Amino acid sequence: MRWPVVIVGGGVAGLRAAITFSRRQIPFLLLEATQSPGGRVQSTFTRAHSNGSGVFCLDRGFQVLQPSYNELRHPDLDLGRPNSPLELKYFYPGARVFFDGKFHALADPWRHPISALASVFGPIGTLSDKVRVGLLQQHILSLGDAVWSGPKKTTIEYLQDWGFSPNLIERFFRPFLGGVFLEDALGTPASFFRFVFQNFAKSPVAVPRFGIGALTRELVQRLPVSSIRLGSEVQSFQEISGGFALGLASGESIETGNILWATEAGPAQKVVGRYISGTGKSQANLESYYHEARALWFASPKIESTGPVLFLDGERRGQINHAAVMSEVSPDYAPPGMSLIALNTLSMTATTESILSHAVDWFGPGVKDWRLLGEDRIRNALPLNFPGPNESDSLATTDRRIFLAGDYTTHPSLEGALLSGRRAAERIVAQITGD
Ligand SMILES: Cc1cc2nc3c(=O)[nH]c(=O)nc-3n(C[C@H](O)[C@H](O)[C@H](O)COP(=O)(O)OP(=O)(O)OC[C@H]3O[C@@H](n4cnc5c(N)ncnc54)[C@H](O)[C@@H]3O)c2cc1C
Repeated sequence: MRWPVVIVGGGVAGLRAAITFSRRQIPFLLLEATQSPGGRVQSTFTRAHSNGSGVFCLDRGFQVLQPSYNELRHPDLDLGRPNSPLELKYFYPGARVFFDGKFHALADPWRHPISALASVFGPIGTLSDKVRVGLLQQHILSLGDAVWSGPKKTTIEYLQDWGFSPNLIERFFRPFLGGVFLEDALGTPASFFRFVFQNFAKSPVAVPRFGIGALTRELVQRLPVSSIRLGSEVQSFQEISGGFALGLASGESIETGNILWATEAGPAQKVVGRYISGTGKSQANLESYYHEARALWFASPKIESTGPVLFLDGERRGQINHAAVMSEVSPDYAPPGMSLIALNTLSMTATTESILSHAVDWFGPGVKDWRLLGEDRIRNALPLNFPGPNESDSLATTDRRIFLAGDYTTHPSLEGALLSGRRAAERIVAQITGD
């Protein structure tokens, strides 16, 4: 049998593409290398007690959803609503920033910047910081999709151009954006910063009630079971008359007329790299173009209510960058009477002991009762080089029957992955149907 389309890669981009083919009734097969779909979007459930009672929900690497993402709100998905099947649970739209030996509550800096910064950064931020952050918010909201345009600058250059004081940058922008970009030098393009700022200004962030993996589960549920094959790594391909033969690790060969290649950059480069054009990446070793992520998950007897808030390191001490008591955001992340804490670090070398010692300063001596449930280290967490959403060239290879999708072809977010998958699928649909 020759499939009209084969999707390679079952992350969010590949699954989103599959939903488009399914809706347009174009037969397709999705091949995923691992035994679980979702790629970087996974939750695992860990038993609280050896007798099996109660579970903790650990989101791989800690991640959140921006309900304002256009692609989540696309009618095919309609997952941005509070009462969508994801049952979104919201973070408080501010943060607690640790410096001078205690936490300082920061009200909503994205939506009410002037009053938020007046409360916390009063003693240290300048008056002009407060005015500028308000002006920046108005500017970014007014830009719409034009957040992606403008001179190429890094985020730190952009913040400095706006005249923010070093205090504000060190105490707030670096830890907050460090958690989003997975790097705190703030070398990430300013266009991505504007995109992130715009989304934070539109809505507080959220997690699904039963973990970020619910997004994957929701996408999979909308697809015919027989259209997804797990444990099917594509290792090679060759051109055959009118299409391609894909070679699987198992030795099996699968024929298709069109390929939608939705893996990370590395496997794309390795297998279909010689066809990649437009991204300027074909010569690069794309696998090295990723930031790493590291998160540690702890169980604790129920700790004093912290609220659904993000904790930030305003001292730039280096062990913990940000933390959250996830069971305060969604109680279903931990069994009754217990709490689940996520500690995130940008250091790949900090020891667990040094991270816990940092946690004692933040959460007090009760940290000695915490139990390590798991640690995630994700090497290819976020792509470093990315073209943004407008570069349609990045979607196709030189052969117009191989289309690329994945966050590295747009931008490093769920929005970028969903957009890339939908758009690549729509192009293949147009090619097949002539629409
Ligand atoms: C720790 C962390 C935190 C994040 N936080 C956020 C956040 O808060 N908000 C946000 O919007 N985004 C966040 N992201 C980014 C978001 O998760 C990713 O952008 C998105 O999941 C990428 O999806 P993808 O489909 O492009 O790639 P992947 O999820 O990497 O999917 C690629 C798939 O291809 C498969 N594959 C690879 N090679 C082959 C092969 N040869 N054959 C078959 N299959 C193959 C892989 O197994 C994988 O399943 C975060 C990411 C991480 C890691």
